[in-house]
Amino acid sequence: MPTEPLIDLHTHSNASDGTESPSVLVEQAALAGLDVVGLTDHDTTAGWAAAEEAALRTGIALVRGAEISARADGVSVHLLSYLHDPEHLALREQNERVRAARTDRARTMVELLGRDYALTWDDVMDHTEPGTTIGRPHIADALVTAGYAADRSAAFASMLRPGSQYYVPHYAPDAIDAIRAVQAAGGVAVFAHPGADLRGRVVPDAVIEEMAAAGLAGLEVRHRDNSPEQQRRLTDIAASLGLLVTGSSDYHGAGKPNVLGENTTSPEVLEAIEERGAVAVVRP
Ligand code: AMP
Ligand code: FE
Ligand code: FE
Ligand code: ZN
Repeated sequence: MPTEPLIDLHTHSNASDGTESPSVLVEQAALAGLDVVGLTDHDTTAGWAAAEEAALRTGIALVRGAEISARADGVSVHLLSYLHDPEHLALREQNERVRAARTDRARTMVELLGRDYALTWDDVMDHTEPGTTIGRPHIADALVTAGYAADRSAAFASMLRPGSQYYVPHYAPDAIDAIRAVQAAGGVAVFAHPGADLRGRVVPDAVIEEMAAAGLAGLEVRHRDNSPEQQRRLTDIAASLGLLVTGSSDYHGAGKPNVLGENTTSPEVLEAIEERGAVAVVRP
């Protein structure tokens, strides 16, 4: 009996806060038995070329994407943008602005941490590839190396958590503007982990309705950070708004417990995403 292809549309390389290079990430996805992998680094497409080369070499299909930082209703939200034109000016400028703000914010956090811990910006840079979209995970790695935290998760549970004296937020565009920029670039916008209530407050139904009206195409329902209650709620919202439903791992290499393929997306939904996207799925 033929089995359904395994499709995982949300992963990170070291072009952002994953621990593996884009090529190694794609090789790992092929070894894990996935048929299709999506590369969705935070606010960048810098990993696309290397991932494409690895996909063609290893025989796995690649969905080129990004995870766009945004804000809605005072909550930090993430939008997966699939198959957009990476050269589109408005989206590129938006990503540049966020990445610059992330660097300033990381510097401020390290300065604050440096008052109480022997930690410098150079220590953080030691864990960061040139051009990476920097985030708290890179600061976490420096804290782990310096012996102040056991692993990334421990650092996130203490010094790096929102509410900690060392936590600083960063600029991100309003989610409605971000959705419009993704659409203008020919991308397909999917709300990443919209019910991640373990991380903090989630956005109410009304905000998801506004996002759908602005062009949101789908909800990432099956994600380990959405509680079972949230997954039920999101399934109902998607049905009533006619949104696509995806499931993905949000794999970050060794930086998080998430395993490739732990949640997957149906071939029908991938087909709908590809129909709407400006660039093709890379197929070997
Ligand atoms: P930032 O975007 O800099 O605010 O950092 C948030 C990022 O940290 C998210 O995109 C996650 O990939 C990562 N993250 C969140 N919680 C954890 C955790 N407990 N362990 C490792 N990484 C985490
Ligand atoms: Fe991340
Ligand atoms: Fe995310
Ligand atoms: Zn992610």
